[in-house]
Amino acid sequence: MEKVIRDVVIIGTGPAGYTAAIYTGRANLKPLVIEGMQPGGQLMITTEIENFPGFPEGINGPELMSRMRSQAERFNAEFVYGSVVEADLSRSPFSLTLDDGREIVARSLVIATGANAKWLGIESEDRYRGKGVSACATCDGFFFKECRVFVVGGGDTAMEEALYLTKFASQVTLVHRREEFRASKIMSLRAGKNPKIKTILNVVVDEILGDGRKVTGIRLKDVRTGELADHACDGVFVAIGHSPNAGLFTGQLAIDDYGYIETKKSSSETSVPGVFACGDVQDYTYRQAVTAVGSGCMAAIDAERFLESIR
Ligand code: NDP
Repeated sequence: MEKVIRDVVIIGTGPAGYTAAIYTGRANLKPLVIEGMQPGGQLMITTEIENFPGFPEGINGPELMSRMRSQAERFNAEFVYGSVVEADLSRSPFSLTLDDGREIVARSLVIATGANAKWLGIESEDRYRGKGVSACATCDGFFFKECRVFVVGGGDTAMEEALYLTKFASQVTLVHRREEFRASKIMSLRAGKNPKIKTILNVVVDEILGDGRKVTGIRLKDVRTGELADHACDGVFVAIGHSPNAGLFTGQLAIDDYGYIETKKSSSETSVPGVFACGDVQDYTYRQAVTAVGSGCMAAIDAERFLESIR
């Protein structure tokens, strides 16, 4: 099997991975970027991005990612399609195996594998994604001015999303499957005190209703009685958590209680020297394209310094 040894290998092609590729490419490190199953990451399913600095008219997600990719290519980043199925970080240089059997050896590794929002898994949710169904209030809340929206979930993310949405929506209804919220007391209290937020407990989403083009309502099922009730609304925000794509590194890198790769304060360094993490795989707090870009830059600079230190 062909074996390639590289100074820098970047796993992932969201904003963090592309930025790491731009910086390491420009530093003449000839990065190899492993694209993953969804090249471009979560922004490929985002329509309008209005808060990425430098685009006053807004830009759509795929267009922004395509520009980042071109910029990385300009600095000779090399892209390989495929996913990493195995990683051995127990000794340096690190060894990665791709799904087609290729082995890649890296003196430094930048992990930018991202995270995925968890979805309810019902068919209507899929049908109306981007047409009223969203998993990111910061990204899409603006489109729901004076609208009625529902937020599904009972954790801190759901409280935060609901509170954020009150800036735009006329009414926000929080729906949770149990009697008690999982969220911290302070966040639950804050949401409870907001006059725009209404709560419905002990319900699950049975279906998201729409007219084919956009969301028009939500059908909730009472988990105690099985009773169904339809509610009119314009948007449904699913806020039931995120899954960081860090499973490959379990047992090899320090990972926090929620599955995110731990990085040192003000750095992208992980628990293994020479392995750096950036973007959503190490960040549950901000999860923005802009912060992912910033941390991708940090990882590239950290990798460059690491390589200098071992030469
Ligand atoms: P959590 O796992 O804490 O909460 C997920 C919520 O979604 C739970 O209430 C859960 O219900 C519900 N849920 C899960 N699956 C389903 C489903 N299929 N259908 C209906 N409901 C479902 O995730 P979060 O993203 O809220 O938080 C993750 C971590 O990040 C937490 O530690 C949180 O404190 C932290 N965080 C902190 C913030 C802050 O401090 N500002 C902001 C955001 C997150 P159930 O309770 O019944 O399991």
